[in-house]
Order: sequence, then C-alpha cells, then structure tokens
Amino acid sequence: MKIFFSPYQLKLAQSPNARSENAMRLGALLKVESGSGTGYADLCPFPELGDAYLRPELKALKEGRPSVLGRQSLWLADRDARARAEGRNLVRREPALRNNFLIEDPKSFGPQHLENVREMGFHTAKVKMGRDLAHEIEWLNASVLSGLRLRLDFNSSLTAAQFAAFQKAVSPAVDASIDYVEDPCAYAPESWAEFRRRWPLALDREMDALAASAEKPQADVLIIKPARQDVDLLGERAREWNLKVTVTSMMDHPVGGLHAFACAQELRERGGNPVGDAGCLTLRLDPANDFSKAVRVEGPFILPTAGRGIGFDELLERQNWLPLDKA
Ligand code: MG
Repeated sequence: MKIFFSPYQLKLAQSPNARSENAMRLGALLKVESGSGTGYADLCPFPELGDAYLRPELKALKEGRPSVLGRQSLWLADRDARARAEGRNLVRREPALRNNFLIEDPKSFGPQHLENVREMGFHTAKVKMGRDLAHEIEWLNASVLSGLRLRLDFNSSLTAAQFAAFQKAVSPAVDASIDYVEDPCAYAPESWAEFRRRWPLALDREMDALAASAEKPQADVLIIKPARQDVDLLGERAREWNLKVTVTSMMDHPVGGLHAFACAQELRERGGNPVGDAGCLTLRLDPANDFSKAVRVEGPFILPTAGRGIGFDELLERQNWLPLDKA
C-alpha cells in the first residue's frame, strides 16, 4: 500500500461546537494506492476532542499504527478505490436521503426563520446548544410552529442537574417538535432514563464510554460518524439495541462530508434499523475552499459530485500529493 497526503486548512465560519472555539481546521487529504486501486479520503483531527494533531496522526499512519481516525480514513479510501474501479459514484440520487439543517448558533438564527428552512425542503434542524441556556429556552419556546423536527445537541456540556432544569423550563408545546436531544450530559443510565421519558435521546460522543457494554443503553438514537467510528460495528450495535441511526460528518473537509453521506445512504439502503436524516451538510462551511464550491446541494439533498467514487476527480488530481513515507 502506498499513501500520499495533501495538507489543507479550512476556515470555519463558526466554532464547531460550544466546547471548541478553534475556527481553523488543519487536516490532510489522503490518496491511497492499494490492491483495490486508487482511493481518496480525508484525515481531519479535532485535537480539542482528544485527537492528536495532524503531524502525529500522519506519523502513526506512516508507521502502520493508525489511530481510529487513520484507520477509518483507510477504510473510506478503500471504499472510494473500489467505487472508482467499478466506475460508480459513491453518492447516489436514490435512495433520496435528506440532511438536517445546521444551526450553529441559535443567537444568530431567530426561530422565525425555521419556517423558511422548512420551505427549503428540510424536515429536521440540528441546533448546537449549551452556549446560553436562558436564551436557548426562550428560542425553543418561540419555535413551536415551524413544523421542523429539532435535534438539540449539547455535546455533553451540561450536568444532569442543568439539563433537568432546562427540560423543565421548556414549554410542553415544544415536545412534538423535538426529534431528539443529543448528548445532553455525561451518560448515566438513571438520569438518561428519566430525561427520555419526555424527549428521545441520542448517543453521540457518549457512545464511546459504552462501546464495550452489552446492555441496551437508555437512548433512542445512535449517531454514527464514519470518520472516526467503525460503521459496520455500530450499525450492528444499533440493530442489537434497536436504536434509530443518524450518520453525520465531522465539520471536516468536503471529501469527508461526502464519504459520510455515502455511508448514510448505504446504511439506509441496507435496511435494518431506521436511518433518519443525515447530518452531512457541514461541508460548505468554508466558502473559499474549491471542494466546498464543487459540492452540489439541492435543499436538504447532497447530489453526486462529478466523477467516480466520492467525485471531485479533477480537484483531487490537482492536489500536490506528498509521499507519506517521506513525511
Ligand atoms: Mg454531537
């Protein structure tokens, strides 16, 4: 196997979540030549989430001891290579799978705009929560008539007591609009069991602590992130535990975003547990990025990008590829 890399910087319009204020993302595209052919993937570490920085990630990959990120990049590159060899695009028009609309900061997005989002064809909106609870409660209580289903992501930024108080302060009129609440606080079966009596709960990062557990968790939805998780294994877990599935990208490079979306389509097509709207429309965050510009989006739908595999053929060829063994 031969690996090449091409480092990039992405400017993010907003900080990725309430916990991380880092607005510049440093990653690398990978080109992997193997028995499957040539395939491409993204490697985009989030040091603020505990990942190593790009250099050590690349070094680990070079030394054949990839982190979970590197391992997933190789897996995705292999999917890309096989699709390219077969002349097919990994992203398809069918099954039509929506993405959620992403509201990075409810402070700069009034609830009165939710109706427009619905008119654009979205069924769900994901709202990044936890920056200003008092405002977020007000925001939610004003949002009830849009017809959109809301996914509230706290990134475990609250304590169980804080979330309990939040839940109490939100009007019951909002309940019908809640698709689920993601990682409200650190996972604990007792508190989560209590919270999900009112609203469905989704396990995202809190899943990491549970991976080895054999018991069905107190949750309704499992978030799967192909950039950093074994998709087949978690798909199997979701089936065992009878959880719905949401596949999301990581606010990484558009190559990573499209890979994640292709995995979402495949999981839905495979049947098994219900796969809800994906969360892969994070890929237009940097308007200066050529890949972001090449992505084709129609309302909530991501369309295939010209080329094979995850597409972007010309842009990928034009990258300045450096051999990893000389890094
Ligand atoms: Mg999350």
